[in-house]
Amino acid sequence: MDNRFLRRVEAGEWIFREGDPGDCAFVIESGVVAIIYEHDGVAETIAHLGAGELFGEMALIDGRARSASARAATDLRLRTVTFEHLNDRLGSADPMLRLMLKAMLSRYRDFLAPGGQRPLEPDGHDHDRAAMRDRLEMEQDLVLAIERSEFQLVYQPIVKLADLSTGGFEALLRWRSPQRGYVSPAEFVPAAEASGLIVPIGRWILREACAALARMAPRGDVFMNINLSGRQITGAGPGEDVTAALRASGLPARRIKLEVTESLLMLDFEAAIQVLADLRDSGFRIAIDDFGTGYSSLAYLHRLPVDTLKIDRSFIGRIVDDEPSRKIVAALGNLSQRLGMDVVAEGVETAAQVRALREMGFEYAQGYYFSRMVPEAEATTLLSRNWVLDPD
Ligand code: C2E
Ligand code: CA
Ligand code: CA
Repeated sequence: MDNRFLRRVEAGEWIFREGDPGDCAFVIESGVVAIIYEHDGVAETIAHLGAGELFGEMALIDGRARSASARAATDLRLRTVTFEHLNDRLGSADPMLRLMLKAMLSRYRDFLAPGGQRPLEPDGHDHDRAAMRDRLEMEQDLVLAIERSEFQLVYQPIVKLADLSTGGFEALLRWRSPQRGYVSPAEFVPAAEASGLIVPIGRWILREACAALARMAPRGDVFMNINLSGRQITGAGPGEDVTAALRASGLPARRIKLEVTESLLMLDFEAAIQVLADLRDSGFRIAIDDFGTGYSSLAYLHRLPVDTLKIDRSFIGRIVDDEPSRKIVAALGNLSQRLGMDVVAEGVETAAQVRALREMGFEYAQGYYFSRMVPEAEATTLLSRNWVLDPD
């Protein structure tokens, strides 16, 4: 284990003294710390801090010397928090939070230490302001987009490898904004998630995708894959939107496959598993999206209430030329089948990939080789289509 950031201090030792330069803060893992003010030769203990508490952060904020002393009241285990730690975290935070935090910190700093040196991320302010403005504008446009019905679903076929027929579709969201033009979901889904707007948008997606499948294929086994975002399964009553959409469409639950990503599961593993298990008990099928890109994941695979693994396109792109990738993908396919799951290869772009996947016994493939995502009318025509592989 890497113990660079862990520090042990014996009872009675000083951790820092007033006037020392301050280059890190500390989180107490165990033990008690006394914070001490020394003035006119008198030492006054102003606080005792225990496990989980943070101290020494002022020096990181104002970049000045320590304004009080800290001594171990008992033996201690401390975890250090460096300036770089803090900056990294800030860098990956939501831009609105980041800007607010920085504004507050800089006011606090001015208040405590006028003229203090080394501000957090010295030149990051303008960048943050611009990022926050963009994000706010995006969120407000998304609110309008909901009201004005600017969203559309398109459908990409998921092809059965045994006979190269269309087994089902994945519903993918599109936003055509009057101001921005076509916007990629990779761009706006994160903003919709951060703002919570993904919940109403997701509700619309569920309804629309279920209704579309009922129109395209009222009977039979053709399925519809629908992407769920984190908020949709961790929020209140996560199953309700799904169930309501299904009921409105009149379809049986088994024709709907809900796609969740590994990273979404990791946010709160036990809770997510429970929600998915409940949905599965109601008859819905569950797919893990982008498999292999997250916390890869064989260790927990058997615990997941899952019917399908979608192997991420970063693996599929290499199976023809790269023997190790091919072996990994083959092993993943094999393993999932032993666990009773079927496998979908994502991002299939060539006939050679299709052949390789068939040899490996994959059930399904999805990708530009077969079809891009298309509007409902065109998707309907793909239902009766049988693909033929290009020759090598
Ligand atoms: P995803 O769920 O992994 O969706 C598959 C993405 O791969 C789609 O991008 C699709 O256009 C792209 N793709 C399909 N076949 C190929 C191929 O052969 N080659 C390559 N290079 N790419 C291919 P898209 O539509 O831009 O969606 C991006 C992401 O946005 C999705 O990734 C998903 O995470 C999110 N997203 C899209 N629609 C929804 C939605 O309705 N709800 C939620 N929550 N997220 C969505
Ligand atoms: Ca997906
Ligand atoms: Ca995917």
